[in-house]
Amino acid sequence: MTTASDILKQIKDNDVKFVDIRFTDPRGKMQHVTMDVAVVDEDMFADGIMFDGSSIAGWKAINESDMVLMPDTETVHTDPFFAQSTLAIMCDVLDPITGEPYDRDPRSTSKKAEAYVNASGIGDTIYVGPEAEFFVFDDVRFSVDPYDTGFKLDSSELPSNTGSEYEVGNLGHRPRTKGGYFPVPPVDSAQDMRSEMLTVMAEMGVTVEKHHHEVAAAQHELGLMFDTMTRNADKMQIYKYVVHQVANAYGKTATFMPKPVYGDNGTGMHVHQSIWKDGKPTFAGDEYAGLSESCLYYIGGIIKHAKALNAFTNPSTNSYKRLIPGFEAPVLLAYSARNRSASCRIPFGNSPKSKRVEVRFPDPTANPYLAFSAMLMAGVDGIKNKIHPGDAMDKDLYDLPPEELKDIPTVSASLREALAALEADYEFLTAGGVFLQDQIEAYIDLKMEEVIRFEHTPHPVEFDMYYSY
Ligand code: GLN
Ligand code: MG
Ligand code: MG
Repeated sequence: MTTASDILKQIKDNDVKFVDIRFTDPRGKMQHVTMDVAVVDEDMFADGIMFDGSSIAGWKAINESDMVLMPDTETVHTDPFFAQSTLAIMCDVLDPITGEPYDRDPRSTSKKAEAYVNASGIGDTIYVGPEAEFFVFDDVRFSVDPYDTGFKLDSSELPSNTGSEYEVGNLGHRPRTKGGYFPVPPVDSAQDMRSEMLTVMAEMGVTVEKHHHEVAAAQHELGLMFDTMTRNADKMQIYKYVVHQVANAYGKTATFMPKPVYGDNGTGMHVHQSIWKDGKPTFAGDEYAGLSESCLYYIGGIIKHAKALNAFTNPSTNSYKRLIPGFEAPVLLAYSARNRSASCRIPFGNSPKSKRVEVRFPDPTANPYLAFSAMLMAGVDGIKNKIHPGDAMDKDLYDLPPEELKDIPTVSASLREALAALEADYEFLTAGGVFLQDQIEAYIDLKMEEVIRFEHTPHPVEFDMYYSY
């Protein structure tokens, strides 16, 4: 337990100058406002900090814009990136009139989801272990693009080996397409940068167990330790922040975009999940792969609601360029202990404590609070309604003949499809008042803007395909 007075003492003892107040918007971007320590006192921790929420995409209208940021004292950590000594703290967003969590605050949704599962008697502890991959590219600023997106749109025009490994001259030591997993340096040229990411995260209270190059050229992964759901959503926000910041300090740029390079592996955020009760793992049992019946039902719920879940777990138009066969990303809604082409994998492990489901379709453009909560609600819906997922699929799903493929459902094929699926299937999310209908509608509107912008913009590939007809 960390209390307000512990933090005030820490500020004094370490001569801290600023307290950075942080929260996450519906799209998943961490936002901040910085308080001078002169105004940081017991009252600030008790009453919160007023702020104008009207300019946050997807939040309140201008006429009802004041909101309260309520610091969660358990989340306090140092931010080592600033010249002046700074503490950072995650906040819930509250309605100033009622003092209740603001309906569209993702972190509050995650806490409500945990409380709902607790109250249902299904379990008291939700463990989540996200594995977010990312690419690191040289920070080459491209010439202005005609659509004013700020980015070069056609990745096929990038050097064939884009990224931290890109050098001119002798190009011998570098990973080829799908060749990054995982030769020692100098083929892997980002060792020091990844090590520094781990060191900085440890300083910020985030335990990362390992790091490695990933399969694609210039792709990496750091192994975040599992933790309880809302805490690990907080830590995923710190993870992304540190990856961006350290890459930047190395003169590079990091991206969590799911498919930045055509023809190579994309970027996933597999999410390992389990529910415990009274100190015992409820997902261990005598069924397939040492799972319990309750875990099978959880998988059944994930599979049943997957197309709607995709709106939260794969919330970018680019997400669906990753969910195609041949790149270790799932397409089919099946489960298996043996292959990585299934949407739900049961990682090998004999110990009941290690029993968990790895959901493989999410990617790190997801808002972690909303994505974890939505998957939990789908799984719990499966448990409550005893939704059996059918038999496991132990074949390589990329190689199935068409007659076997035709009966297996798939993930959504586009953000548009995922949003339509969510519109038609959201009651599992609003159970117990965890998600609010208004919140889901606002989220769909926000994301539809991205779909429309993307669909209405002429794409460089279209010039390549159609220009000269
Ligand atoms: N990059 C793959 C994905 O898109 C995963 C590769 C791996 O971690 N084995 O999900
Ligand atoms: Mg990986
Ligand atoms: Mg994995």
